[in-house]
Amino acid sequence: MAYWKAISLCRNFYENDQIKMKYYSTNHNTPDVSLEIAVTQGLASDRGLFMPERIDPLPSSFFREIGSMNFQEISFEVAKKFFGEDIPEQILKKIVFDTLSFDTPLVKVNDNIYSLELFHGPTSAFKDVGARFMARLLAHFLEKEKKMVHVLVATSGDTGSAVANGFLGVPGIHVHVLYPKGKVSEIQEKQFTTLGQNITALEIDGTFDDCQALVKSAFMDEVLKKRITITSANSINVARFLPQAFYYFNAWAKLEDKSRKIVFSVPSGNFGNLTAGLFAKRLGLPVSKFIAANNLNDIVFKYLQTGVYTPQPSISTIANAMDVGDPSNFARILDLYQNNHKAIANDIVGTTYSDDQIRETLLSVYKTAGYLLDPHGAVGFRALAELLKKGETGIFLETAHPAKFTETVEQVVGKGNVLMPEKLHAFMKGKKLSLEFSDKYESFRAYLDRLE
Ligand SMILES: *Cc1c(COP(=O)(O)O)cnc(C)c1O
Repeated sequence: MAYWKAISLCRNFYENDQIKMKYYSTNHNTPDVSLEIAVTQGLASDRGLFMPERIDPLPSSFFREIGSMNFQEISFEVAKKFFGEDIPEQILKKIVFDTLSFDTPLVKVNDNIYSLELFHGPTSAFKDVGARFMARLLAHFLEKEKKMVHVLVATSGDTGSAVANGFLGVPGIHVHVLYPKGKVSEIQEKQFTTLGQNITALEIDGTFDDCQALVKSAFMDEVLKKRITITSANSINVARFLPQAFYYFNAWAKLEDKSRKIVFSVPSGNFGNLTAGLFAKRLGLPVSKFIAANNLNDIVFKYLQTGVYTPQPSISTIANAMDVGDPSNFARILDLYQNNHKAIANDIVGTTYSDDQIRETLLSVYKTAGYLLDPHGAVGFRALAELLKKGETGIFLETAHPAKFTETVEQVVGKGNVLMPEKLHAFMKGKKLSLEFSDKYESFRAYLDRLE
């Protein structure tokens, strides 16, 4: 090999492996990119999902000291493993500390089952963590950018509110939330239509799929993309899903007895949350098993049983944030385990529950433990109640506050038994502002044409 070629290979090796984290696509059909490209681009150009090339375990000293650290401090140590090579330490620290202006408490529900409450953020669902982190990271990358950046997001409810609130007031960024008219709950709608400032809500006369199709058309519109800068903020973005590893560590830190085997039960839809848990395990978190807790949308459950993955049209359930028929992050799980079904089934156990079973669980936990679950958390709890073995401690992710689903929950536990937290109540007082559009690209395009 020629000397210069060898030198340049060495340098490439050094640059690739020592200096910065590279992100590859799960489709392995496009060159690796930097964190900045992965975050601003969202999806890889071969339509795959970005993955960090390395996951280096945290040192044992971290696990010795974790019990005395708070959520922000723990998360900062985890964040450095993912983003430390790309973001200066003080900036990363500020992003993490600003993102986590709320805690994720671990609440004991019965002898060996704990609820990891992820609903204490501004919109009362776990998506606040990823959305707030992504907003701040994007703002950091766009500092040098003179032009306004437009974030387009289609939502069936929770994503729109978390993204809108996460980006609220961030300079240089304007968020456009597309949602299906009449198909989101009142509280969800209020959470992204009352904000004003740099948030605009577009009410589309169509379904969620129509909203998503409009956003996709904009991303394929080369003429538009030459004129304005657009980016997406859905859960396939690495800046949204990786930070979700933070609270798995926080849960473990808060456990009194760390000697028992730990099982995490994750109410799953697009599988971003569960995938983040798998990353936490690769970083060294001693997790014995994960449960992929599903409603009747049981595609992953069937995969775990049979090794065959067959996407299906989604089925409507009362745990509607999990009504997903082709979970986008499943590609990341396959990639992490190199398509080895046996290895996946060794770490992840599947369950699936009907609406009646979800209601039954909600009611019985309310009656016997005095703990009010939301429909998604109920799926997670039930999986532990059925599958936990002797000597194991179970933690389920309580992904939203029950008041976000007041109607469903009150039908089960009785009217007046769901208390709305003050911050959700405050949204209800705001005045709804939205722009109405048909589901045709022409009218949405005319709107985009007026942006600068
Ligand atoms: C989004 C959401 C889920 C599903 O999370 P994934 O990461 O997509 O699996 C579960 N519960 C609630 C309340 C949600 O908003």
